This record gives sequence, C-alpha cells and structure tokens, in this order.
Amino acid sequence: MATTRDYYEILGLPKDSSAGDIKKTYRKLALKYHPDRNKEAGAEEKFKEISEAYAVLSDADKRAQYDRFGHAGIDAQYSAEDIFRGADFGGFGDIFEMFFGGGSRRGPMGPRRGSDLQYDLYITFEEAAFGTRKDIDIPRTEICSTCSGTGAKPGTSPKRCPTCSGTGQIRTTRSGLGMQFVSTTTCSTCHGRGQIVESPCPTCSGAGRVRNTRKITVNVPAGADSGMTLRLSGEGNTGEPGAPSGDLYVVVHVMEHRYFKRVDYDVISELPISFSQAALGEDVAIDTLYGKVKMNIPPGTQTNSVFRLRDKGIQHVHGHGKGDQLVRVIIKTPTKLTHEQKELLRQFDGLSGGKKSEGDEKDRTEKSKKNKGFFEKVKDAFEG
Ligand SMILES: [Zn+2]
Ligand SMILES: [Zn+2]
Repeated sequence: MATTRDYYEILGLPKDSSAGDIKKTYRKLALKYHPDRNKEAGAEEKFKEISEAYAVLSDADKRAQYDRFGHAGIDAQYSAEDIFRGADFGGFGDIFEMFFGGGSRRGPMGPRRGSDLQYDLYITFEEAAFGTRKDIDIPRTEICSTCSGTGAKPGTSPKRCPTCSGTGQIRTTRSGLGMQFVSTTTCSTCHGRGQIVESPCPTCSGAGRVRNTRKITVNVPAGADSGMTLRLSGEGNTGEPGAPSGDLYVVVHVMEHRYFKRVDYDVISELPISFSQAALGEDVAIDTLYGKVKMNIPPGTQTNSVFRLRDKGIQHVHGHGKGDQLVRVIIKTPTKLTHEQKELLRQFDGLSGGKKSEGDEKDRTEKSKKNKGFFEKVKDAFEG
C-alpha cells in the first residue's frame, strides 16, 4: 500500500531541500494530480504517492527517520495511517478521509482504543550491526481470561443496561427556535458499555481487564541504530470491548563498544602502533566486525593517517550495501625508555641528523649496511 519509491525522487527534490521548497513543490504537484481536477488514469495513485512523500518529508521527525533509515525506518515506526496523520495538506481536502475512509476516526462516544506503550531496548554494537531477536517482558493490560472480558462472574452474564437499553448512549432532544436539537452523551450507568455486571468476575473485579506481564519477541533489523523505533502493532494495552489494542513502540539504544565507534554505516577504530612500525612499515592484524583482517602499514606512515577497509562497516538497514571500516593510526611515543633504547635513539639522531659524510660509493654502502643493522635493533628494542 505504501510506496517503495524514494520520497525525494517522487517530489523531484534534492535531499537537502528546505521545508519551504517541499511545501511549494507539493502544492504544485497536488494541484496537477488531485483526483477532483485530473481524471486521467493513474492520477489518483500519483496523488497518493506525492501526498505520502509530502507527509513524511514535511514532518521533521519522520523526515529524520527516513533520511537515516529509509522506508524501513518509516514502516517500522508508523502505520499507514500514522504516516499521513498530522500532516498539513493545505487546501487539498481531508486526505486522511480520502485514503482511509470515515471509519478510521472514532467518535468520542465509542469504546476507547487501548493506550500505546513504549519500551527502551538496549543492545550491543554487534547486535545492532547484525540484527537480533530479543524477548522482552512487557507489563500491560489484557483481556481477563476468566470472564473473557465481560467482567461477569463465570456462570453469570452481564445484563443489558436498563438506562440506555444497551446502546451505551443517551440521546436528549431539545426544542428551541423552531428547531430540534439532538445531543448524545455517554450513559453514566454503564459508562458506555451498554451492559451492567451484577456479579463481578473475581479475577478482574468486573473490569474485564487484568494487568499481565507478557513476553514479546522483538526483531531488530541489521543496521539498526540508536533512536530507531520499532512499532509492534496491537501489542500495547488492550482497548475497551470492541476497540483495538494500542501499539507497542520499542526504542533502540545501542551501547558503546570498546574499540568501535559508528558514523552512519562506517565503523571507526583506532590502531596504536610503535614509531618503528610507522617508520618501517608492517602488515598488522585489524579487528573488524567480521573477524581479523590483514592491513598493510606502509613505511613512513604518519600519526592520524586513516586507512579504509572496504565493506567492513555496517549493513545498510534497507538492505543494500555496507559501510567501510576506517582505521586511524595513532603512533605511540614511548614515555619510559631503557638505557638501550636511549642509546639507539641517540644513534638514530646521529644517522638521520645530517652529519654529512663526504664519503665515496664504498662509504655509502657501508653506511646503508650499518643502517639496516640499526633498524633491526630498533625493532627489537621497541616492539618487544
Ligand atoms: Zn474477569
Ligand atoms: Zn447504559
């Protein structure tokens, strides 16, 4: 029912469009495709699509959720009705009524829908990256199983309310100014239920509902991030008889990782190396979400250099592609030096400090041989 096309594409707008541009473009397209004005085939579908795109992009929260998580983020958090709810469609009639019919809106007299619940779910970095199933305990009101929600003691049944004759409503008619005024109020004897219980159910004391803790399984998709909200339809508190239950909203919180940080879908890590590794270069083993991989540190690497490991980041939540891992190299400068290390560093200073030797070819070869031996010693001394 909801579109799978990109919302920005539907409106023909770039991702960084201002709220004003989104509104202007919607008005232009809505005028063109409104079914009252455009009788061409497909116009209504098109109108529905642009209205959905506008409903999401004109709401700061929905737009942020869409920009981060795509359609998956919207579908997880909002029902088809919720997507349209609250949007300002300007002068284009009641879009809500048009798409969902009058029945979606309940009058103030009808039985009340159960209330929504919210649950904060804490998951690890890896669980967010790869997705996870969690069983959570949700305390909520449910229909009493002893009386099946009637509130009457088993073996008895509720009686039709004598005040309202079972309608739950009281109509009063008043005349004045040559007209009749009809007003309807909720029956105070049965509180709108149309029935009264003479012998209440012992389990729920006649309420028809009880408080229960229910285990619910939540599927967190791979690529989820802090702030993502998952909607579990009908898993909230139970409604009054005849009305639907509320929804359960699970808000995802991702705990910090010891080594990894996340920026969008990229994983950021730091790699401390010794200054001889940086100077001489080396292959090192890097921890990634997918196990250890080999990475080459080229000779002469500077501190804060960043190396990119392609596709070692996090799976996009809408299914295509992965981020990268970015490895920032930090060169450790030794703080406590042994006598031998100090001696080597002095030699190093001497070698690189440009004590220009006026030597011939033979002299240079000698020196490079000496250097090689020197760096071996440096490696041994600093990477022990
Ligand atoms: Zn009961
Ligand atoms: Zn009544």
